[in-house]
Amino acid sequence: MKKVMIIYGTRPEAVKVAPLIKALQSSEVLEPVVVSTGQHREMLDQVNAWFGITPDLDLKVFQHGATLSELSARILTGLPPILDEVRPDAVVVQGDTTTVAIAAIACFYHGIPVVHLEAGLRSGNIHSPFPEEANRKLAGQVAALHLAPTTTSRDNLLREAVDPASIAVVGNTVIDALHWTAQQEVAFSDDRIAHLAEQEGDVVLLTSHRRENLGDPMRRIGQAIAQLADERPGTSFVFPVHKNPKIRAEILPILHPYPNVIVCEPLDYAEFVHVQKLAKVILTDSGGVQEEAPSLGKPVLVLRENTERPEAVDAGTVRLIGTDTTAIVEATSKLLDDPEAHRRMSQAVNPYGDGRAAERSVAAIAELLGVGARLPEFVPHH
Ligand code: UDP
Repeated sequence: MKKVMIIYGTRPEAVKVAPLIKALQSSEVLEPVVVSTGQHREMLDQVNAWFGITPDLDLKVFQHGATLSELSARILTGLPPILDEVRPDAVVVQGDTTTVAIAAIACFYHGIPVVHLEAGLRSGNIHSPFPEEANRKLAGQVAALHLAPTTTSRDNLLREAVDPASIAVVGNTVIDALHWTAQQEVAFSDDRIAHLAEQEGDVVLLTSHRRENLGDPMRRIGQAIAQLADERPGTSFVFPVHKNPKIRAEILPILHPYPNVIVCEPLDYAEFVHVQKLAKVILTDSGGVQEEAPSLGKPVLVLRENTERPEAVDAGTVRLIGTDTTAIVEATSKLLDDPEAHRRMSQAVNPYGDGRAAERSVAAIAELLGVGARLPEFVPHH
């Protein structure tokens, strides 16, 4: 058996590596070694529990308030002893956090092939999203295998002169996780949300946590929701707030006066998937939500100026609207009031996957390690 180490620490990483870990567990030629960095401790434990995953090792590199440089230094010194102890045949990193970039470099220095899951996403602006655009490019420079979710992401890598033979288009594992989760029965732990499932009024779901939206943009988003909530007492707004205290301080006082705004703790992954199913419109700056919602046939308004996920924008279910208060109010109102505008944006499309990305990823890793062959690439069907 070849050992494949998976390193991850945030909620979105946990969702996206879970299907891969499960698929590795049932492989006859590869076995997973699961390493958590504990970045989003509580949210991570919750996602792991949902998928029945228990990390084998904990890389305790996170310190409250540490800068990106301090974190990088801790990963660069903390990871090598674990690599020496476990001696993995390959290491998988997912996405674009600082952990991904620095762990990839540490593995490269150790001569261990790096597999980059969700490779090739690009906004085209090195400063936005910050530091993610740089992180994914750095990881891409040292990866031996690029698991690209779409042909768009493959083309981004080809433009950067990445060896075509090292790229496999597999789809995004977020859709594997979503398909399975959307089919499970889920009870809402928050009574206010459970109540929404039984009532008639429209539901608008909001998430916002990006670093570049902290400060003024977050305040403008809050003001837009406040104005919408004031104008539409029959519509409910659900806002699971990220644990980041800076986000909470900025936006919670603005939303506090409105009884139809349900502000809650981050929802368990399965509950969040089912709230997406309840929603008529989703406002978000999240990457993962931009991928999930189109698959559920939900219109998404993206609270950012750019996106590294143009596929659903091209398919017409995602629109970039930025963080201007008036723009948010107008775009949301249109989707709530104009059935034709809503219909145009709510065709279920699956540009990001067909639920088999983990299977293709395992096959491509097996090929990299000389113990298997790749499967046919992911091709989206509309
Ligand atoms: N998510 C969740 N609970 C929430 C909000 C989001 O489980 O309250 C899930 C969501 O379904 C998606 C992932 O978290 O799979 C997205 O993570 P996030 O928005 O934190 O990060 P990003 O995708 O922007 O990196």
